[in-house]
This record gives sequence, C-alpha cells and structure tokens, in this order.
Amino acid sequence: MRKAGSLIEARPRTAPRPWPLVATPKLPRMTNISRAEPSSVYLSVEAWVAVRKIRQDWMVARHKRISNTESGGRAVAYVISRIACPYCGKTLVELPAATPVYDVACERCEFRAQVKSVETPSRGRIRGASARPLAGLRLAGKLSPPLVVVWKWDGETRTAGEVWIFPLVPWSHIRERVLPDTHATMAGRLMVDYHDLSALPHFVG
Ligand SMILES: [Zn+2]
Repeated sequence: MRKAGSLIEARPRTAPRPWPLVATPKLPRMTNISRAEPSSVYLSVEAWVAVRKIRQDWMVARHKRISNTESGGRAVAYVISRIACPYCGKTLVELPAATPVYDVACERCEFRAQVKSVETPSRGRIRGASARPLAGLRLAGKLSPPLVVVWKWDGETRTAGEVWIFPLVPWSHIRERVLPDTHATMAGRLMVDYHDLSALPHFVG
C-alpha cells in the first residue's frame, strides 16, 4: 500500500513542465477590433465595408430618435398648420395614410398635394416616393401631383426653413431610379427623383 503523497514525490522536481511546447500565438481580442493591430486581424474589403456601414448606420440611428415615417407625418402636420390652400385660401387637411401619392387636401376646393420634407436647404433635386402610383397617373393622362416641399426640415424639433409649393410638376422633371441591391429594406424597388425643381414656378410659404 502506497503512502499518501508518494506519486508526487516520485516525480522528479527537475522535469520540464509539459507546456508550452511552442509559443502560443497572441490572439486578437475580437471584442475590440477597432483597436487591434492592423497585422493581427484580417478582413476582406467587402467585410470591412460591411462592418463600416453597420457602424455608420448605428451612429446615425443612435442620434435619430424618430423614424422617417414619423418625421414625414410631422412634416405634413407642419404644412397644414402654416400653409393655406394656394388656390382658394382655405385650410388644408391631412388625407388618410392609405391615400396613394397625395398627403394633403383643401377642405373647400379640389386642390390636393404631395408633401416632401428635406433636411437640406432648397436644391434642384430631391428624392421622391415609389414610382408605380405616379406611372399609373402618367399612363392615364392625369397631371402629376402638386408638390409641397419643406426645406431644412428637422422632425425632432418640428422646425423648418421655407415651404415651397409647386402647383405643376411636368413629367420631364420626374425621373425613375432603381434602389440599389445594397438597400436595406427595399432593394430593387422603382422610385422617382424630382429634378431641376428650381427651374419650376413655385409659391414660397
Ligand atoms: Zn382650396
């Protein structure tokens, strides 16, 4: 019968420890990629671009407290509270959300319009909505919707610069574009851009 501790005593004190046989490579800390040495983490260009885009989107989202839809709804309310019908002078009212293309209507006459809010000062080109309803109007020989543009719109503070009303927007100023494959929610969807707006007659509200 062995005495307690005999196994430990049998091991030579000078025996080399079984590790390390080779130097353990220093692994990059994956939780802290941005501070890692360039030589320790390799990302493909595509991965790097994707990581950077996610980071940028997150930075934007962190500072944006309301959605684009909410901001657009507030812009419509802003227009209604400050702009009268350019045709008869009566009050504008908001149309139901399901109404295609148009956002506001006059409570008295036939005037209806689409409202666009833009964060920049006035410029010639702005992004529009889905192309399909507009294409339907064009094919049917209808007029394009009058356009109300809120410049320098801030949806959070509900403040803006000027409001311009374009009573007539010729089809030649409305161009279709396809959202790129990299678009987060609506890749491949056909949208419109409004071009050369500054060349069109407009009221300033
Ligand atoms: Zn009116």
